[in-house]
Amino acid sequence: MPPADHHKVLFEPIEIGPKTLRNRFYNVPHGTAYGTQRPATWAAYRAVRAEGGWAAVSTEFSSVGPSSDEVPLHSSDIWDDEDVRRHKLMVDSVHKHGALAAIELHHGGAHAMRRLSREPALSPSGLAPELPPPFGPPGTPKAMTRDDIERVQLDFVAAALRARDAGYDVVNVLAGYGYLFAQFLSPFHNHRVDAYGGSLENRARFWVETLARIRDAVGTDCAIATRMSVETQGPWGHTIDESVALVGMADRFVDLWDLNVGSVLDWASDISPSRLIPEGSNLPVFERIRHATTKPIVGVSRWTSPDLMAQAVRSGVIDIIGSARQSIADPFFPQKIHDGRIEDVRECMGINLCISSLDRGNLTCAQNATAGEEYRRGWHPERFEPLARPEVGVLVVGAGPAGMEAAIGLARRGAEMVHLVDAAEHLGGHLRPAVELPGLQEWRRFIDHRSIQIDGLPNVQFIGSTRLTAADVRDYGASHVILATGARWLSTGVTPQTHGPLEGVAEGADWIFTPEQILVHGRRPALGSRVTVYDAEGIYMGTGIAQLLADEGFDVCIVTPHDQVGAEGDLTLDGPAVRRSLHRSGVGMHRAIVLTAVEQGRVFGAGEFEEPFSCETDALVLVTMRSPLDQLYGELVDDRAALTAAGIEAVFCIGDALSPRPIAEVTFDGHRLAREFESPNPAVALPYKREPLHLELPDGDLFLGGRSR
Ligand code: ADP
Repeated sequence: MPPADHHKVLFEPIEIGPKTLRNRFYNVPHGTAYGTQRPATWAAYRAVRAEGGWAAVSTEFSSVGPSSDEVPLHSSDIWDDEDVRRHKLMVDSVHKHGALAAIELHHGGAHAMRRLSREPALSPSGLAPELPPPFGPPGTPKAMTRDDIERVQLDFVAAALRARDAGYDVVNVLAGYGYLFAQFLSPFHNHRVDAYGGSLENRARFWVETLARIRDAVGTDCAIATRMSVETQGPWGHTIDESVALVGMADRFVDLWDLNVGSVLDWASDISPSRLIPEGSNLPVFERIRHATTKPIVGVSRWTSPDLMAQAVRSGVIDIIGSARQSIADPFFPQKIHDGRIEDVRECMGINLCISSLDRGNLTCAQNATAGEEYRRGWHPERFEPLARPEVGVLVVGAGPAGMEAAIGLARRGAEMVHLVDAAEHLGGHLRPAVELPGLQEWRRFIDHRSIQIDGLPNVQFIGSTRLTAADVRDYGASHVILATGARWLSTGVTPQTHGPLEGVAEGADWIFTPEQILVHGRRPALGSRVTVYDAEGIYMGTGIAQLLADEGFDVCIVTPHDQVGAEGDLTLDGPAVRRSLHRSGVGMHRAIVLTAVEQGRVFGAGEFEEPFSCETDALVLVTMRSPLDQLYGELVDDRAALTAAGIEAVFCIGDALSPRPIAEVTFDGHRLAREFESPNPAVALPYKREPLHLELPDGDLFLGGRSR
């Protein structure tokens, strides 16, 4: 089926120098946590995006040499022939699906991690702004000599040649994000007085020379792109006017301009959370660049709507849609748009769990449980293995993220009847009230997608407004029962810091609130009250409720035991903006305070040095820990005889009812159970593939350096 008329423009091929993109969907550089260290996991992850219709699929940053060793971050290094072998695996699997393979050549300069290479950091002038721990490598970087400049340029050229040999179609030179070339481009970093500092032309020299040398080296074997951050939110970049001039200086060496905004110091400008930055908001700055080049432009802007994408391409401001997060959430996005299957798209929610999980060593996605599991567990985002025994009757209790995901997965696998039952009227579980918090409206996409799928699958039925007891479950007539009954916020004030109830918290006290009481039951303190939100969790709930109550006119303050308010937000990149917004709304913020006791009218606590803290308050909201709601599971499995008599073969507990966790993990739970439903023990995950699979010790003495002489 041809694409809808208004989306056709997205499927027109376009030339980038010597290469042709088959359509306008470009999967731009983004981290995976796998890179060349886990080459099969990496190749499978990238290949699925090629299969899903992206015209080009890129690596994450690929370091060109040990002075930019990025351990403990995840680079797909391209330093030697062994790296080339690993890259080839990725390139070949991408080519198999008709996409171009692109590599992003990288040097981090002052921001390079260098944990293994232990080389000094290189920088234009021996200056580096602070990166927050644990990211910031401590120390003052080395100001690069002319020899250093020459050496790094040769590293780039050698890396480009290796990339060509690995079969890459596009060599993209990273000159954005505040990394080495961007440091040269920026007067904030670059204080040199030689030919590589001072005027814009001088600051651009290192980058332009490198592009020219790469062009000479690879000729027309590869298209040459360069990624530039055209605007930053701090002094560490260059101005948009300078960006326009820079494009003019390098245009003759470039086949494709890859544009974004921001840097490692204002990352949220680029990897914009939906809480802060609307889709398509980069277009006005990209428009400035449009007037400076006739070469194709690929631009990112948290794209998820095919209508807005088509409009952007039709406007001519950009030629190609750049996307990372939408490709993580739905690798088959281009294919679905082509086929007019808009309703099947898993739209990125902009929740940025991909970023926070990446920093912790794995790429996860709230919307797509298969992200990163393509090789590891053999999960394809669109294909499900049919059940050997489809004639099962499955009852899923709880229609939150875990229950919905399990029900859809089993229906996809052909289970003849799946009933999804919830005490609440609507689908969504704990997420449904959460999306009403200020700024979280786009998180509703999680529920909307699954709601559409459930409506369209004839073998899954949602039954709302029905609370089931153990007897109801036994009488239901299902052969398999999945309990996804969720969790509740503790009302006792138990925190990870104290492991005990908060002194003075009495069950049922009318001045103490849990998030459910505020969000689900609509309870509120008396109008105009002073409210303290005690956020010992640090994800979105504490700051969300504080903002909600401040917006409603309460006099709010947040107390947190963490060093930062909404600490997790610093990993999902919305932290600083959320705090700014709270501050603007007059919310007081007390960091690094553990509450020790409360009484009506006042809360008491202590700081790091046990210095006393107290604050007057009329109401207290406890955002501390969640506890699993697993009583129903316990009642059922404790009476095996009754289960057998009821013809129930198996009972499983998943999601927050098993262990309260972030949404990507509870969704994974539901997905995994559906995928492994017929394994010998579906309650426990099957082993997954790990890399490297073989270890050969080198010949000879492993500890040469330690030999006594
Ligand atoms: P998860 O995050 O693990 O998916 P949620 O807390 O989002 O869990 O959702 C759990 C859902 O289970 C809630 O919508 C709740 O109404 C429902 N639920 C809990 N106990 C029962 C029960 N006994 N009968 C029906 N629905 C239940």
